[in-house]
Amino acid sequence: MVLFKKKGDIRRYLDRKKQQEHQVGFVPTMGALHQGHISLVESCRSDNSITVCSIFVNPTQFNDPKDFEKYPVTIDRDIYMLEAAGCDVLFLPAMEEIYPGGIRPGEKFDLGYLETILEGKYRPGHFQGVCMVMKRLLEIVDPDNLYLGQKDYQQCMVIKKLINDNFTGMATIVCPIIREPDGLAMSSRNMRLNEEERKKAPAIYSVLQSLKKNLRKGNLQQLKTDANNSLTKLGFKVDYIEIANASTLLPVTEWDGKQELVTLVAAFLNEVRLIDNLLLN
Ligand code: AMP
Repeated sequence: MVLFKKKGDIRRYLDRKKQQEHQVGFVPTMGALHQGHISLVESCRSDNSITVCSIFVNPTQFNDPKDFEKYPVTIDRDIYMLEAAGCDVLFLPAMEEIYPGGIRPGEKFDLGYLETILEGKYRPGHFQGVCMVMKRLLEIVDPDNLYLGQKDYQQCMVIKKLINDNFTGMATIVCPIIREPDGLAMSSRNMRLNEEERKKAPAIYSVLQSLKKNLRKGNLQQLKTDANNSLTKLGFKVDYIEIANASTLLPVTEWDGKQELVTLVAAFLNEVRLIDNLLLN
């Protein structure tokens, strides 16, 4: 694996590879890697001749500064995992490479309603920060294929819009959620759970599964209320538990029994905010 810290260097390297007809796939991450990230690297490797991964903890997407300060950093282990997974190129930029001259208010991205619902509503400014970093990373790496995880369902939609509005000839591949054996969606933030919280955390997935099992045509409000109550009783502070149209993410209250649905949840266990989602039909 070749490691680059400077955008000029990685760009020159990838330009040479493209001249040699290589197809480049890209897996952007914030590090503290787990098997979920590695599954993206594996998909990328099976479709492309060059797999590029980036690790950059992007300050502009943290609406809560405490969350940024506490974001886990495990860089030596990450490099080892990427090597073992067969990643070809790691881009590890310093802050100055991505935000030269510091963080300044930049371009405003038009994300429409995606910015005012679910994660957009509960994490103001989050998706503007995601777009800010993703646009810069995509300009630097200029991949043929971009690999994202369904774990961040709404983020996938936001990034697809960013690509649609700003890039051509770049495909997006959304990879399934990788879970721990007890059902908890893998996440870098899981490292911050204490023993007791870690035991409770898989309840999120159980609640999503029982919502799926009880899904019936008609009004969906009771299902959402029951799911919310189950999590609250267990000690979660629920930001939202929603049932939405799987393609638009707009909330669905009356289900016709046909349209494709996804249920999405965000809930705190004390300080740690967890998200998850499940396709329902
Ligand atoms: P992050 O490092 O949290 O920014 O995540 C980097 C990429 O990995 C994003 O596209 C995430 O959606 C994806 N990802 C994170 N957790 C998982 C998971 N459990 N399964 C699959 N993909 C994941």
